[in-house]
Amino acid sequence: MRAAVVPALGAPLEIRDLPIPAPGPGQVLVRMQTSGVCHTDIHAAHGDWPVKPAPPFVPGHEGIGIVERVGPGSPDSGAVRQVGDRVAIAWLGSACGRCAYCISGRETLCEAQHNSGYSVDGAYAEYAVADERFVVPVPDAVSSRDAAPLTCAGVTTFKAIKVAGVAPGERVGVFGIGGLGHLAVQYARIVGGIVTAVDVTDEKLRLATELGADHTVNARTTDPVAAIRDLGGVDVAVALAASPQSFEQAFSSLRRGGRLVCVALPAEGTMQIPIFDTVLGGISVIGSIVGTRQDLADVFALHAAGRTRVIAETRKLDDINTIFGDVLAGRVPARVVLQF
Ligand code: ZN
Ligand code: ZN
Repeated sequence: MRAAVVPALGAPLEIRDLPIPAPGPGQVLVRMQTSGVCHTDIHAAHGDWPVKPAPPFVPGHEGIGIVERVGPGSPDSGAVRQVGDRVAIAWLGSACGRCAYCISGRETLCEAQHNSGYSVDGAYAEYAVADERFVVPVPDAVSSRDAAPLTCAGVTTFKAIKVAGVAPGERVGVFGIGGLGHLAVQYARIVGGIVTAVDVTDEKLRLATELGADHTVNARTTDPVAAIRDLGGVDVAVALAASPQSFEQAFSSLRRGGRLVCVALPAEGTMQIPIFDTVLGGISVIGSIVGTRQDLADVFALHAAGRTRVIAETRKLDDINTIFGDVLAGRVPARVVLQF
């Protein structure tokens, strides 16, 4: 099978011909149809974060495909998925299922988790093996092209809006309109938020308006904090841009009682937060990491019901290094989806 492999951290990816992996106990072999390109894959290939993946590895955690083989049943679950099922392979490749986080519905916090395309090979390949309990079925009404970005960008922003507890009529600032941001705008609208989109390109802001944003601010030409304060501030600020400065602007845009939801993971990740304003303003700072299998099922259900739109362009696996360059330069509409 053809796969895009990270040969060494920081090196360009190589398209290699690898043997089709065999599913072990409790695993399925998935023949990939589409695979979304997430900024995290670029961080993985560059080794940007404190916990680094071990090359060679195959990135990708927005994989959609058909179960082609089922491995021998795992001792505790038996076969959950059938040959022919269309499933999503997400960032949460597996979790232990037994720890306090797993049994309290917080499996994304499991300390024994494996992550697709990071600690186990991911979806930039014609085939991938995955834990059958952690792949999520894709409803018929959701195309494989749309399902891919929903599998990380969708579920991650859905969860961010959920943990922020946005109430109808509250003001929501979405900082960064890309793969994640274009969906965050829509989830904030679904729960009744009044949305201000912040980005540095007019094209992305036009997209945000098209998707329902009530206000837009170009942070390259306007001070977003002043602009949002002129609008009365926001109750929730979702930080999706991989820039510590953007996190600080998001914090400073909050009204009293506001919540900052931290989602992006800048390579250089420290922000300065004034203690005085945090205490007097009753501000909450929340970290939100992807979403659970149930969150992803909810994301698919919303899309199947026609509540969200996915903006993406499809490209080929061979173009992966050019695609990474285009993503870093902001030259892609919202998301790139590899089509196999
Ligand atoms: Zn991702
Ligand atoms: Zn666990």
